Amino acid sequence: MSQNVRVRFAPSPTGALHIGGVRTALYNYLFARQNKGTFILRIEDTDQNRYVEGAEKYIFESLAWFGLDTAESPLKGGPHAPYRQSERQGVYQKYAHQLVDEGKAYYAFDTKEEIDALKARLEAAKANQISYNAVTRMQMTNSLTLSKEEVKTRIERGDAYVIRVKIPSKDEIRFQDMIMGWVKAHASTLDDKVLLKEDGLPTYHLANVVDDYLMKITHVIRGKEWLPSAYLHVLLYELLGWKDAMPQFAHLPLLLKPSGKGKLSKRDGIALGIPIFPLSWEDTDDKTQTVQTMQGFREDGFLPEAVLNFLAFLGWNPGTEQEIFSIEELVEAFDLSRVVKSDAVFDFEKAKWFNQQYLKSTDDQKLGNLLQAEIKRQGFVTDFELPKLTQIAALMKERITFLNDILKDGLYFFEAPQVYDDKTLKKRWDEEGRSFVENILTELSDYSGEWQAEALHELIHGYIDKNELKMGKAMPALRLALTGLGGGPDLMGIIEVIGKAETLQRLKRILTVV
Ligand code: GLU
Repeated sequence: MSQNVRVRFAPSPTGALHIGGVRTALYNYLFARQNKGTFILRIEDTDQNRYVEGAEKYIFESLAWFGLDTAESPLKGGPHAPYRQSERQGVYQKYAHQLVDEGKAYYAFDTKEEIDALKARLEAAKANQISYNAVTRMQMTNSLTLSKEEVKTRIERGDAYVIRVKIPSKDEIRFQDMIMGWVKAHASTLDDKVLLKEDGLPTYHLANVVDDYLMKITHVIRGKEWLPSAYLHVLLYELLGWKDAMPQFAHLPLLLKPSGKGKLSKRDGIALGIPIFPLSWEDTDDKTQTVQTMQGFREDGFLPEAVLNFLAFLGWNPGTEQEIFSIEELVEAFDLSRVVKSDAVFDFEKAKWFNQQYLKSTDDQKLGNLLQAEIKRQGFVTDFELPKLTQIAALMKERITFLNDILKDGLYFFEAPQVYDDKTLKKRWDEEGRSFVENILTELSDYSGEWQAEALHELIHGYIDKNELKMGKAMPALRLALTGLGGGPDLMGIIEVIGKAETLQRLKRILTVV
């Protein structure tokens, strides 16, 4: 691409960033990087009624957790600062007025009652589109129906007004979307949207187009839910005389519920008990105003790289069998023209699979660090320090889906089992098993060598061989005594980690309680 690619992620801080928003950010990031372009974060907070405290910080934290770095943002600044629309309020008005001066937009003075009456009339007439448009605009109180003097007087005396775009009655608006292909809408399906509100602030449409233009955005990559707005945006570029600078649009397929039926929503997260936000979020229910904490992918034990890999595939595929892609590999392989039109099912089982694969291939040291951080986050109590935690992580990494599984499924590393698995007890805890544990207890207490997996292996296996015991009897009994379970990672590794004193104590305990 010869052009200097500039893309933006432009969320509105109206709540927690949805995982679909993260996918949008990811696709923008990948596209920018592979074209040696610039990835920008712009906060679209013109709608103060929908502003939610903490939502902006949440966006920053989420992108940081995923490592989706932006070159220009409210935090970093940049050549087109500010990047928060609420701080750019002075920017937009002149464009709205320019359109009025050129006859492409108009002042509308209608009161709420007048607008309500219009709606009621349209409803009664069963007009399927309830709007302020080419037909209805001539019945309303605006600068198209009032005399010039009247308009002037009203403005001078301070009457409230909005500026509406005058949708030209041309046939259709067409553009070529990079993903959806040629798309078109008839101008009559658009309404005369408000561009500037009574308080002088822009609406989303005006601010979005003006900022994309001023920030020299070359590609608008966003969710398909914005496609209906795109027709108006394309028209605004034309009306503002910016047609040649219009970015290319790429509307991404929607994310569907795991069932494939309908758009993925916050409610699915609650109903299915699955995360749909990247980080935990104190969510206030719109209807009941009750607050509940919703776990995020991070709190559920997902690695950010695994989530990104999972998200990359929701709408895109490389056309090969390869599924595991590091972020650098995604930068190489991702191709906007391979993004599909059809909506993508949010398959949570697949997300888990990706996480498993990533945990398995994470190096032990890093996993140890992550485990330590997780322990701290959970307030989990243990004296174990990093070297031991690293050993535990290394032993467990083949068997976990989430990092937290180490603390659940591998709880025995940290504390003696309180109960013994019933099935294993019945099957494995017989005279032979018991007497083996008794004897090995003596062997291990007498042992003064290094307390280390290989040496212990030699000692224990040596004992089994020498006494011609059955491996399949002895080892499960020993495992049951030490972990309370019938299966798990390398037993010698477990014995090494829990240490001599604890091992002896656990062996004694099973002999007294069962
Ligand atoms: N502010 C819009 C949102 O919240 C951005 C749409 C766009 O990217 O143009 O998603």
